[in-house]
Amino acid sequence: MRVITSKNELIVWRQGLLHQSSVGFVPTMGALHAGHLSLVSQALLDNDFVVSSIFVNPTQFDNSEDLAIYPRTLEADIALLETILHDRIIVFAPTAEDLYNGQPKSKSWDFGAIANVMEGEFRSGHFDGVGTVLQLLFELVNPTNSYFGEKDYQQLLIVKSLADQLGQSNEIIGRPIFREDSGLAMSSRNQRLSEVQKLQATLIYRVMNYIKDHISSVPWKDLKQWAENQFQEDKDWRLEYLTLADAQTLETRDVYAENLQQRVFIAAHLGSVRLIDNMAVN
Ligand code: AMP
Repeated sequence: MRVITSKNELIVWRQGLLHQSSVGFVPTMGALHAGHLSLVSQALLDNDFVVSSIFVNPTQFDNSEDLAIYPRTLEADIALLETILHDRIIVFAPTAEDLYNGQPKSKSWDFGAIANVMEGEFRSGHFDGVGTVLQLLFELVNPTNSYFGEKDYQQLLIVKSLADQLGQSNEIIGRPIFREDSGLAMSSRNQRLSEVQKLQATLIYRVMNYIKDHISSVPWKDLKQWAENQFQEDKDWRLEYLTLADAQTLETRDVYAENLQQRVFIAAHLGSVRLIDNMAVN
């Protein structure tokens, strides 16, 4: 495995590849876990080389405190990727100044209605930051395929729109959510949860599962009320949104429709840690 920390070195590496070589790209913000590794493993299966970036992108944080305390564990991340034992993996870990060519700054993007709900509504400027950093990374890596987790389902749809707008031949591939045995979706932010909080955090999965099991027989508004009560009963929780939405357009739905693909989305704060998750309900 090779670790590259400068943009220029990555450009030289990319230019040195044979024209027909395929490159899989897995962008991450580090603090890697098995969900990230599943993306890298899939990328290795599909491509000649895999670039995995580790970069905590400042422009996608709407809250400077959240950015400051985001886990940064580069050495452990490199050690974890080395367990895959592959000389076809490149880790790209640039500085913000190098990647952004100076002071990090967001461009403004038009991703349409999918960017205005949920994460777009509650994290101002978040998807502009995501679009900006991914444009920089996509242009450097020039990937054949790029891999994203359904854990950030809305982001996956945004990235598909971004890739269309950039017009590169970069196939965006969505991969399933990796969970702990408890059901808790793996997340870098889980590192900030105590053992007790990790147990509490399984509420999100339990609620989504309950919704999935009952949505065809109980009206959505009643299920939603029930779910909101579950969060209200424990004062450590602050529910931000609990949404039933169309899986393609992300339009909010007030009723369940068996013949349409729908997903339930949750964002909630447990103490000072903000968690998101989602699940297909049909
Ligand atoms: P992050 O480092 O949180 O920005 O995530 C980097 C990539 O890993 C994104 O495409 C995420 O959607 C994906 N990812 C994060 N957590 C999981 C998970 N539990 N299962 C699958 N993919 C994940």
